[in-house]
Amino acid sequence: RFITFEGIDGSGKSTQARLFADYLSSAGQDVVLTREPGGSPGGEEIRQLVLTGDPQRWSAETEILLFTAARRDHLEKTINPALEAGKTVVSDRFADSTRIYQGATRGDLRNMVDQLHSLMIGREPDLTFIIDMDPAAALARGLARQSGEDRFEDFGLSFQETLRHGFLGLAHANPERCVLIDGNRSPEQIASEIAAHA
Ligand code: C5P
Repeated sequence: RFITFEGIDGSGKSTQARLFADYLSSAGQDVVLTREPGGSPGGEEIRQLVLTGDPQRWSAETEILLFTAARRDHLEKTINPALEAGKTVVSDRFADSTRIYQGATRGDLRNMVDQLHSLMIGREPDLTFIIDMDPAAALARGLARQSGEDRFEDFGLSFQETLRHGFLGLAHANPERCVLIDGNRSPEQIASEIAAHA
């Protein structure tokens, strides 16, 4: 099975992806925990290209191409081989992040994202956990980590608010695979709710 975690920066999704992967492993499943952008050597190289340097370097359209290229490599090298070997893949972000971050924040580019997705990726997760969290609360809880790795952490609360609404809309539009999780609780409480969906 292919399971993804989505949400705004600081929503706790990376922690939850790791806890869920640990939970499935301890239940005897063969689990691959991976992330986007990244998840394969080539994907991680593209991650460096898009997350560092001058934020104005790439247009929104070029960014969509780069994220899709990273995803294609991740799919070829990591996700598909693992799924074909019968493993469970847990990914911290996948295509939904591109639909929202690139597709719904700088004009409406969702159509371009979706067309490229069907041409080059063509796979949807079996299950997606969308961790919903008020951006101000994420900051107040100190969860919005400031790794200094990338420029995206600096876009501020209103940008995060736009993302949050994008993810909420996505959850409502895809109820067959998306589970909306209230992230405003302790990591343990959230993890046990998520584990109940295993
Ligand atoms: O999830 P993670 O913190 O590793 O993501 C790294 C950064 O990349 C985040 O700050 C996020 O805002 C950004 N990102 C993006 N577009 C995507 C995926 C992630 O701008 N499609």
